Amino acid sequence: MNVKDLMKSAEENTTPFYYYDMELLDSTLNKLKDAADKYKYNVHYALKANTNGRVLDLISSYGFGADCVSGNEINKAVAHGFCPGQIAFAGVGKTDKEIEVGLGNDIFCFNCESVQEIEVINEIASREKKIADIALRINPNVDANTHKYITTGRTENKFGILVTEIAAVVKLIESCKNINLIGLHFHIGSQVTDLIAYRDLCLRVNEIQNWFDKQSMGLRHINVGGGLGIDYDNPDVNPVADFESFFSIFNTYLKLRNGQELHFELGRSIVGVIGNLISKVLYIKEGASKSFAILDAGMTELIRPALYNSKHKIENVSKHANSSNTFYDVVGPICESSDCFGAEINLPATARGDIIAIRCAGAYGEVMASNYNLREKPLAVYSRNSN
Ligand SMILES: *Cc1c(COP(=O)(O)O)cnc(C)c1O
Repeated sequence: MNVKDLMKSAEENTTPFYYYDMELLDSTLNKLKDAADKYKYNVHYALKANTNGRVLDLISSYGFGADCVSGNEINKAVAHGFCPGQIAFAGVGKTDKEIEVGLGNDIFCFNCESVQEIEVINEIASREKKIADIALRINPNVDANTHKYITTGRTENKFGILVTEIAAVVKLIESCKNINLIGLHFHIGSQVTDLIAYRDLCLRVNEIQNWFDKQSMGLRHINVGGGLGIDYDNPDVNPVADFESFFSIFNTYLKLRNGQELHFELGRSIVGVIGNLISKVLYIKEGASKSFAILDAGMTELIRPALYNSKHKIENVSKHANSSNTFYDVVGPICESSDCFGAEINLPATARGDIIAIRCAGAYGEVMASNYNLREKPLAVYSRNSN
């Protein structure tokens, strides 16, 4: 993060705002592209992590595909340069209208999560005289070892069809004239840092593929989803996720069949570190046993700490660390006790007007901002003015 550029932006813009490091996004995309090209892997950017137009424009310029979870995301992806033929459409609750958007754009694939969904897509496709390419989202029952709200690949989660249902679902698909099964889809969860979980996923996919081999069913595409984590504690030490190790696990453990293509859907690991929520200290308040730094940003701008108890690195950008460092509970202005960015955060002596950066807020930050308390949505500011 370029502190000078950031302080200049803080002078010119009303806080709170999101500050995006576009140079870091560019270098992240470069490294991702090199790592994926090495194995000829296909990467789809998961739009739900960040749908900022400038961010989308840069990502699509690298030729990556998109992973969308709503009809509006499909339309926005197309408007920002993603190729419809590289768009996967996921989600347990696609509406009829959203299915029509997908069919109308001739997207790459619907990732289907239930029997009824497949029947409805078949019906709509037949009405529109289209063939819908689908992948079956299978719940692999692999533990991603992450927060329970962002674990998606266990049998108790709402996502995907169970391994025990595969035979029945495949039979149903054979009776659906407007459905073309092109692959399998998996996604075990988000902010996965223990890469062993992906080895477990590979081994499970291999077993499931054996079953399809026995039916002599060739599938062209395997999609293993996303979830690769970032280093929330040390964004300056590890600004770019370890894409190479991530892909090499799949290269080592996943047994692709002849001609099969492997797909990934990465969100957080592409945009997480590039975003910072920039805020100003409104007040310092001395409590009974602690000091509060009250910011002009709160859970309305960044809900992750309140929702998942997630920890973001907090920095006072106006002051250098010094001997007067003390502990603050860094809180927002919203009338909810969960509106707290961090307890007992060690900061230089902090005063009204200081600029605070909440780091690694690029994923699931701005996209989840709300107008609760009738607050304005935060601005987005970029680290450079080209592109
Ligand atoms: C959210 C999601 C992703 C992206 O997850 P990240 O943790 O941001 O990489 C990928 N695939 C599916 C199906 C998702 O729901």
